[in-house]
Amino acid sequence: MRVTDVEVIPISHRLPEGRGLGDARGFGRDRATTLIRVETDDGETGWGEAFAPGSVVAPVVDEFFRDAVVGMDPFDVRRLAEDSYTDPYHFGGSVFVQSALSGIDVALWDLVGKATGKPVHRLLGGRERETLTAYASTMYFTEEDRPIAEPIEEAVEEGFAAAKIKIGTGVDSDVERVRAAREVLGDDARLMVDINGNYRPRQAIRTIKAIEEFDVTWVEEPVPPENLSGYREVKSRVDVPIAAGEAHYGRFEFKRLVDDRTVDVVQPNLGRCGGLTEANRIADMATTENVAVRPHIWNSAVGLAAAVQFAASVSDYPHTRNVPDPMMVEFDRSENPLRDEILTTPFDPTGGEVSVPQGPGLGVDVDEDAVERYRADR
Ligand SMILES: [Mg+2]
Repeated sequence: MRVTDVEVIPISHRLPEGRGLGDARGFGRDRATTLIRVETDDGETGWGEAFAPGSVVAPVVDEFFRDAVVGMDPFDVRRLAEDSYTDPYHFGGSVFVQSALSGIDVALWDLVGKATGKPVHRLLGGRERETLTAYASTMYFTEEDRPIAEPIEEAVEEGFAAAKIKIGTGVDSDVERVRAAREVLGDDARLMVDINGNYRPRQAIRTIKAIEEFDVTWVEEPVPPENLSGYREVKSRVDVPIAAGEAHYGRFEFKRLVDDRTVDVVQPNLGRCGGLTEANRIADMATTENVAVRPHIWNSAVGLAAAVQFAASVSDYPHTRNVPDPMMVEFDRSENPLRDEILTTPFDPTGGEVSVPQGPGLGVDVDEDAVERYRADR
């Protein structure tokens, strides 16, 4: 089996005027990402997602990957992540190289799974679980004037028993939002908060101490992703676990997050971290240091599928029969047809769980007509 073509497919969706949503840094109306479609000489198709703008991914694929990938045997997939640091020398540590690599790598694993008849999580080292707890990503800052607890009420009605909400615009607002979410969720549900790097360390520490009484499972990106000394300062001053990783890519960056236990939870995005090959290495490294791995997922259904396959394979170490801190996958509850419409059978988080697809490769069928509807380059 040899690769015959790599296609870069930018897809996007714009929310209606006045319906923008976002985080502490501001609102946005556009959801956009890039699918990678790899074909082989035996007529098979593999899919991946590069979580970066297609207008950038396309020339990166052409410049750095196309010659190496066309003609390649997909079973040589692990070589690609290694080569990304040596050829192109000096450029491998770039977010756009790693994003393009992510999409190609996942598409190649999809092909290996299809060739062997096995789901990707079996190829990565085995099945740890067949269903995954899904947490609702919700309670965004919105342009609409809605009661703040309404999105959490909707998530509870769907059956979610875990949620992540946006905070980060000041300690009073942070406490109000966390209190409202906790009241709706009840005492037993897991509640995470995301500051999206909007604070300096002392602001973050003040907020985290103020919300600690609401039993927060983790605080995500309390300070900007590049501010590793800030992470260490925050972590040394609070008792709530600290998470980061959605903005990081490549095992070398993740090593810095894991070293000295800079964070308690790493969150690789399968469309940015370097793909399944690199995520597997990151998981091994994090697990070795007893740092939790919880994938970040704000992707299309293809990136979601990759993350679900990955999450299904990650060890529960150090837990054995009792797992007080279970693997969870993020399930965004904002409007996004790129997540809900491009698979013939979309993921269904009703009841707060998703099934791990057991079919070959990513275990999903991409609806190519639906992809065409959201193509951004036509
Ligand atoms: Mg986040």
